[in-house]
Amino acid sequence: MTASASISNELDVYAIRKAFPILERKVKGWPLVYLDNAATSQKPFAVIQALTDYYTEFNANIHRGIHTLAEEATAAFESTRDAVRRFIQAESREEIIFTRGTTEGINLVAQTWGRKNLKEGDEIIVSAMEHHSNIVPWQVLCAEKGSVLRVIPVTGKGELIWEEFEKLLTPRAKLVSIAHISNALGTINPVKKIIRKAHEAGAIVIVDGAQSAVHLDINVRDLNCDFFAFSAHKVYGPTGVGVLYGKMQLLEDMPVFQAGGEMIKEVSFEGTTFNELPYKFEAGTPNIADTIALRFAIEFLESIGREKIRKHEEELLQYASERLMEIPGLKIIGQAAQKASLVSFIVENTHPQDLGILLDNRGIAVRTGHHCAQPLMKLFGIPGTVRASFALYNTREEIDELIVGLEKAVHLLKR
Ligand code: PMP
Repeated sequence: MTASASISNELDVYAIRKAFPILERKVKGWPLVYLDNAATSQKPFAVIQALTDYYTEFNANIHRGIHTLAEEATAAFESTRDAVRRFIQAESREEIIFTRGTTEGINLVAQTWGRKNLKEGDEIIVSAMEHHSNIVPWQVLCAEKGSVLRVIPVTGKGELIWEEFEKLLTPRAKLVSIAHISNALGTINPVKKIIRKAHEAGAIVIVDGAQSAVHLDINVRDLNCDFFAFSAHKVYGPTGVGVLYGKMQLLEDMPVFQAGGEMIKEVSFEGTTFNELPYKFEAGTPNIADTIALRFAIEFLESIGREKIRKHEEELLQYASERLMEIPGLKIIGQAAQKASLVSFIVENTHPQDLGILLDNRGIAVRTGHHCAQPLMKLFGIPGTVRASFALYNTREEIDELIVGLEKAVHLLKR
């Protein structure tokens, strides 16, 4: 490894890359440069192997089986709950509910806590930079309950306007649901401060951690959030599984979400009693394999160390932001003081989608479009952006490839 190849003298990115088999592949004859990590991250070998091991060695349904395979599968499944508790520093494993992902976690809160506690005229606060999955569940709930959705505006730099948030915290405000990190802008929102203020006003807070769980050290007790939702597939884990953390008392008081097997204690035609936490919210056979594999993703992250990863990703962000400014006519959308390792941008007289296609022709995967944040794009008056989002395995050389690819693409499109 040359000195210039080393982006951080602490994190050995080249050794880490070896743990991700997909990074070996070529796309259209070019080595893959995967910069779409905010959509989903790639998976280390340990996660892929965990899936194979489960299906080849101990595939069985969990919890009620008394045979060996069922016991092994149950133990592996439940050990992920312990790993998640540690990962987000929750107090107890009963507060960890497995879901399909962030979207389901938010819908769960809307359909249980929301349905029970909200009434006509009550207000739900979100921000202008939310992902659709943190807007639409609340709109559906508002339509049903006659509650009202309020929106914290953002500045041109992509930061929340704090005074406007404070103004929204009236006695009508019952719930604040906020992205920890914006997937479209990269803004890291001051969620701890938001939670403190919301609590003072008597509102509970759900943190959409879809983008933050992979980049930040999450401590739900220190944040003092009421709920925290994230998806395994963005933290180097498999698709189809996610986590909803909720404070014990809130979860205890909430009505059930989906009903069926697993979530019951006793069923009779006269009446049914529900299971205790966390099973009360886990109806039916869960996604056993992917949940088991999630633990391997968490252990992978833990084995490297969050601080090292953060430093590496910060360096990538800074390097990419500087180099992108060399492209004539390029404008970065989202210039918040606190940003995670993603850059959204537009280039004058080009369409994001055309840039994305031309980059793909060189094996460079970026995301283009509205990033499931159409209201935000409207606010900025643009149809969408190109988004390059970085992970722990990305390198400075890959950013150089992005710049070369962009220069060539812009040249072609402006001809
Ligand atoms: N919120 C944010 C901020 C996101 O980036 C995403 C995924 N792009 C989601 C919610 C939804 O996550 P999922 O599709 O995994 O449920």
